[in-house]
Amino acid sequence: MAKRDYYEVLGLSKGASSQEIKKAYRKLSKQYHPDINKEPDANEKFKEITEAYEVLSDANKKAQYDQFGHSAFGQGGGFGGGFGGGFSGADFDDLGDIFSSFFGGGSRRSNPNAPRQGEDLLHRINISFNDSVFGTTKTIKIRKDVECDYCNGSGAKDSSSVETCKTCHGSGVETVVQSTVFGQVQSQRTCSTCQGRGKIIKDKCSHCFGKGYNNKEVEYEIDIPAGIKSGQRVRLQGKGGNGINGGPAGDLFVEVLVTEDNYFHREGDDIYTELELSPAQAALGAKIDVKTLTGEIELNVPAGTQHGRRFKLSGKGVKSVMGYGQGNHYIVASIKIPKDLSREERELYEKLAKLRNEKYTEETGFFEKAKRKAKDLLDDL
Ligand SMILES: [Zn+2]
Ligand SMILES: [Zn+2]
Repeated sequence: MAKRDYYEVLGLSKGASSQEIKKAYRKLSKQYHPDINKEPDANEKFKEITEAYEVLSDANKKAQYDQFGHSAFGQGGGFGGGFGGGFSGADFDDLGDIFSSFFGGGSRRSNPNAPRQGEDLLHRINISFNDSVFGTTKTIKIRKDVECDYCNGSGAKDSSSVETCKTCHGSGVETVVQSTVFGQVQSQRTCSTCQGRGKIIKDKCSHCFGKGYNNKEVEYEIDIPAGIKSGQRVRLQGKGGNGINGGPAGDLFVEVLVTEDNYFHREGDDIYTELELSPAQAALGAKIDVKTLTGEIELNVPAGTQHGRRFKLSGKGVKSVMGYGQGNHYIVASIKIPKDLSREERELYEKLAKLRNEKYTEETGFFEKAKRKAKDLLDDL
């Protein structure tokens, strides 16, 4: 789609004066402003007009446009899009302000005196596996800004050293009159005398030097619920950063990092442990004491247990941190083959192999024999 000539958009001929450009823009922008004009193409028209004005009201851009046309600003540069230099943000903000005052759209600036919530804080702690399963209470120390005890956050030496700002009479905003393309327009901005606080402090509190807060070490006791997983956070409402202008404090999040256990492995709320069995135990079966989260149990390992077999202890896993349900404890058989057989053991394994018609490697090497002899000698001592 070919871009329309900017002068044409504003209904002007080339060489129009800046006064004429302003006048045309004022007339057309009122006519097509989307807040006023509800025709379906009003928005597009308004953008087109604004874009044309942005260029023609800027002496540099106008000069470039007059010389090179649209190609001065690259191809396909739509509204807010690929302009060579882009829109000058400040100018456009000003226009926005003009519109909001002109159309009674209210100020876009937020009130600097409005109460705001303080920032959230994050603290990390390490806890043991056992504490994560059963829950615990921990005391943590953090440094943060705390409301000054002496001035209760006012930053003033005493109540008589606080005065209402004379510029804004305590409102925190001052009214300024600007000359704009629409004539004289009143707008409001943060009071420059009091920076929007509405108050002036004559004598500052000597404990916080007028800040109203001090950076201090604070202790909190936190309840870590049973079943918490590594990386989960406990929220302490209102223990974060101080609120601003009397707003509520932020929250303190305590992220829990659980130290891995050498024996218990957790997956979700299930627990996995390894049960080492010798080939004889696996073949013959055995009653073996197994450590669980709640103490030892005797596990009946049946004869012929295979490597990797899982024994399930229902409900012996971790209690869900959500407060309902409990995982299982899976005991996984792991058959360990002995590596250093004694002469007698070797003879028995050889006997087993012969009984089952299994091929095996006979001990022939001089070195192996010498090693075994030496070992047997030590065993016999
Ligand atoms: Zn003020
Ligand atoms: Zn103070």
